[in-house]
Amino acid sequence: MIQDEFTLICSYALVGYEGVETLRILGVEPSPIGPRVRWEAPGMPAERERIVSGAGYVTLGPPSGPMMLDMLSRTLAARWGNGSPRCPANWRESLQQRFPRLFTEEDPCVGPGWSWLFEAGATAIRERGVPRNFKTVQTKEKFGAARWYWSVDESCEYTRNIIATVEHLSAYICEDCGRPGRIRKGGWAKCKCDIHASTKSAR
Ligand SMILES: [Zn+2]
Repeated sequence: MIQDEFTLICSYALVGYEGVETLRILGVEPSPIGPRVRWEAPGMPAERERIVSGAGYVTLGPPSGPMMLDMLSRTLAARWGNGSPRCPANWRESLQQRFPRLFTEEDPCVGPGWSWLFEAGATAIRERGVPRNFKTVQTKEKFGAARWYWSVDESCEYTRNIIATVEHLSAYICEDCGRPGRIRKGGWAKCKCDIHASTKSAR
């Protein structure tokens, strides 16, 4: 199951990525944060692309393939950590208690299907050290994907990349349940799995 979810989300999220044809899934191994899908992708560049505009401005491209794969592996580890992917009703409070420097009592202000994604992002940030005076300004869903607005006193590219990866991956994970999903265009763009796309009330 976990490997199927990994493969399906990759097939949505890594379309057009350079070197994606070199991605190979090696298996699933236990880890302190849950069962981790192990992978290799020797042809995928590790760095985010820097796009220079005609006027000389530099903007960052989407998160790199390896960053996406690492965050997806972490997300599914959290999701399957208890053997079955059930999101407890108090998931938000639980994240606030575990990551008090990252989330206020409003956050993450998104659906439960993204709980493991935010947990994975928070764990990754804390592993490298939460930047000084890090503050989550707002979390929400917008145009079908997660937004995580934040402020900080010091430059921290690592944190910027982690949060960009969380936002980017959310467009391929059902906000209701955490299964592989895609943004469904309709009256209101939402990221849903096939089940939640076909019935608004299913849980
Ligand atoms: Zn769903």
